Amino acid sequence: MVTEENKHSYELIIIGGGPAGLSAGIYAARGRIDTLLIEKLAMGGQITGAEKVENYPGFPDGVSGFDLTELMQRQASLWGLKTHTADVTGLAVDSNTRIVKTSDGDFLCHAVIVASGSARSKLGVPGEERLLGRGVSYCATCDGAFFQDEAVAVVGGGNAAVSEALALTRYARSVVLVHRRNELRATKVVQERLFSEPKVHVIWDTVVDEILGNDKVEKLRLRNAKTGEGSSVNVAGIFVATGLVPATEFATALLDMDQQGHIITNEVMETKVPGIFAAGDVRHDSAKQCVTAAGDGATAALRAERYLTTEVTR
Ligand SMILES: Cc1cc2nc3c(=O)[nH]c(=O)nc-3n(C[C@H](O)[C@H](O)[C@H](O)COP(=O)(O)OP(=O)(O)OC[C@H]3O[C@@H](n4cnc5c(N)ncnc54)[C@H](O)[C@@H]3O)c2cc1C
Repeated sequence: MVTEENKHSYELIIIGGGPAGLSAGIYAARGRIDTLLIEKLAMGGQITGAEKVENYPGFPDGVSGFDLTELMQRQASLWGLKTHTADVTGLAVDSNTRIVKTSDGDFLCHAVIVASGSARSKLGVPGEERLLGRGVSYCATCDGAFFQDEAVAVVGGGNAAVSEALALTRYARSVVLVHRRNELRATKVVQERLFSEPKVHVIWDTVVDEILGNDKVEKLRLRNAKTGEGSSVNVAGIFVATGLVPATEFATALLDMDQQGHIITNEVMETKVPGIFAAGDVRHDSAKQCVTAAGDGATAALRAERYLTTEVTR
């Protein structure tokens, strides 16, 4: 219900400050739409964890994920995008008003772009929760420097896992990549880099059954996925990069989702609720790349602008 207490009011609210949200923010602010971007953590999204992004157009020598999103933020803020730090916890509709519920109260608007991306999946093994922040991490760029000259493990076989393993070689004495299959899913050029890195050793066909240690990570209990044979490896850190879960819990009651929880949209980023759009990794069938997230964000902002002009009295 919209009441007088619901004090914050905008034309457009963007949820998430990754490449999709920032791109939407640049387009919306430049379109002179009164826009607020709400981000729960630091700006930039997942890509801030990438050592080097080599496939974003315009950067022939590559660019760190952090620098790339810092440039996006600067561009958005030069156009006047307002930002706010809060955790979005719910979405609701009241006639022409869209209500964004957050840890800092309700925010009102006429259109919403959901660009909340994904978060790392958990391994779901004993020791993971207990030793979180004590050797268990989901971000090598954030925590890698704590493991100077230590042995560490990365779990996973896609681009994120390989990228994390390579990033860790800058600090760690050795890196084991534990992968449940006998081949990696990562892009070939990234695999080649991994296989030529002497500090990295891949343990194939293997899963982690338990993370062991008293008050910090000391050892992983492993199991061969084919033979069932058990083994262990001594490490001071474990970086989990096994997959992603879409950050859409706050929207489940309102929007259509696929089985994994990605938001269903049409090709112009419209969800089933008029005035609510979704962009980037959070979307069903997204290519999960920076460039596609930024493209989605641009499309969503342009469509939101059209919606605001045609469907809502401004
Ligand atoms: C290690 C790594 C390396 C990568 N390398 C590459 C690469 O080389 N090239 C490439 O193109 N892609 C790469 N990617 C993928 C790329 O990072 C993603 O495709 C891209 O970041 C998706 O952007 P997004 O804006 O859709 O979502 P995200 O980047 O996930 O951003 C979503 C934002 O929303 C925020 N958020 C979530 N829930 C809420 C909430 N409830 N309230 C408020 N805010 C919320 C999050 O904190 C986050 O900042 C890599 C990813 C990783 C992890």
